[in-house]
Amino acid sequence: MFKQYELPFASNALEPVLDALTVETHHGKHHATYTKTFNELAEKAGLADKSVEEILCNLDSVEDASLRNGLKNNGGGYYNHNLYFSEIGPDCGGKPEGKLAAKIDECFGSFEDFKEKISNLALTQFGSGWAWLSVAKDGSLVLSQSANQDNPYSLKSGTTPIFCIDVWEHAYYLKYKNLRAAYIKDFFDIVNWKAVEKFYEKAL
Ligand code: MN
Repeated sequence: MFKQYELPFASNALEPVLDALTVETHHGKHHATYTKTFNELAEKAGLADKSVEEILCNLDSVEDASLRNGLKNNGGGYYNHNLYFSEIGPDCGGKPEGKLAAKIDECFGSFEDFKEKISNLALTQFGSGWAWLSVAKDGSLVLSQSANQDNPYSLKSGTTPIFCIDVWEHAYYLKYKNLRAAYIKDFFDIVNWKAVEKFYEKAL
């Protein structure tokens, strides 16, 4: 059974960046539906005992095209939102510290340069999708963007995602309407870098 990440904060705790209704709908409807459907499809495919990462990395082993596509979209939706909701919180923002901060400086020049680059990927993702910070096999940090619920696992990038920005309209439209750039800018005020540092340590 794949379990949806439970929010450790109230739905209005991320205001004014994310309003309560957006958080309730995003987590309680969108993420919950991806989780439910992914569980059903993983069961159907006989993959319910695998990890979500294993399933997404090995989609080619699913022969039925419709089932494979369903696993990619709903497994991605399940995984991506678990990461998204576990990397944000109230009283957050600021910058990463320690090893992750040093690696960001090494790979991108500075935190501000990193922020500009990933923000640009989030902004220029055409239509629904995501921007990603991932760890490559050699330990370096890499940036990418993806459409729909694709992610570095289903895209066979060989990297481990540690941070993402959801740029589906359901993530921001109630408050920000068409102003995706404003949402991306404000999003950094709710990033829990302590959590991202833990994902980085785990990925190494
Ligand atoms: Mn979303």
